[in-house]
Amino acid sequence: MINTQNIEAINTEFADYEPKQILKRVLADIDNIAISFSGAEDVALVVMAWKLKKDIKVFSLDTGRLHPETMQFLERIRKEYKIDIEFLSPEAAQLEAFTRAKGLFSFYEDGHEQCCGIRKIAPLRKHLQGLSAWITGQRKDQSPTRSNVPVAQIDKSFSTPEHTLLKFNPFANWTSAQVWEYIRMFDVPYNPLHDQGFVSIGCQPCTKPIGPNQHEREGRWWWEEATQKECGLHKPSVIATDS
Ligand code: SF4
Repeated sequence: MINTQNIEAINTEFADYEPKQILKRVLADIDNIAISFSGAEDVALVVMAWKLKKDIKVFSLDTGRLHPETMQFLERIRKEYKIDIEFLSPEAAQLEAFTRAKGLFSFYEDGHEQCCGIRKIAPLRKHLQGLSAWITGQRKDQSPTRSNVPVAQIDKSFSTPEHTLLKFNPFANWTSAQVWEYIRMFDVPYNPLHDQGFVSIGCQPCTKPIGPNQHEREGRWWWEEATQKECGLHKPSVIATDS
C-alpha cells in the first residue's frame, strides 16, 4: 500500500513502469486522489486515468485568463467523457484588491509570481488540503526546471505540519513525442491551440506559440528568465498566501 512512509521505495519501484501501470497502482491504493488538468496535452493523462477509473476526480484552475479555446476544450472533455471536472476559481476579494491596485497586466512589469499566486496557487493550496494525493502531467523533458521531476514524491510545496500530501507524475519519464503518440493512437481530443504552434499552454496573456527549434517552455512568460518559468504549482520554494 502506498503511503507517506514508503514513497521513496515506491518511486524506485516505479522507475521502469509505464504511465498506465503507475496510474493503475496509484488509483488502486489511494482513494482521495485527483488529477490536475490544464487543458493542454495533459489530456492524455486524464483520458488514460479515466479508462482505469470512470469516476476519477479531476480539477482545473479557472484563472479567468485562459484562452477561449482552452475553456471550450475543457468543456468538451467534461461532456464527452462525463468527467465531473472541478473548476477552481480565485478568491474574489483578493483578486479584486490585486487588480484594483495593479491592473490586469502587472506581470509584464514585475513578474508573474503575484498574479499566479492569487489566480492559481491560493485556490490550488486550498483544494489540495482536502486531498491525500494529486496527479500531474509534469515531464522531465519540459524544461530545465523540471529535469529532476520524480514519478512519486511527497509534495513539500503543499504539505503542512498536519497534512502530508503525496504527488505523482506518471509522465515524468515520457517525452512529448510519447504523449502525442498516445493522443494520436487513441484518437484523444486535444486543445486546438496546439495546431497553431502552442505547445505548453497556460493563461492567454502569458503563453505564445513557439518556433520549431524553441524549447516548449519558451512560449511561457517569455519576458522572464528560463529558471523562473514556473507558476508555483510545482516549485517547492514558492509560498502563496490564502489571505
Ligand atoms: S499565467 Fe499569467 S495571467 Fe495566469 S495567473 Fe500567472 S501571471 Fe496571471
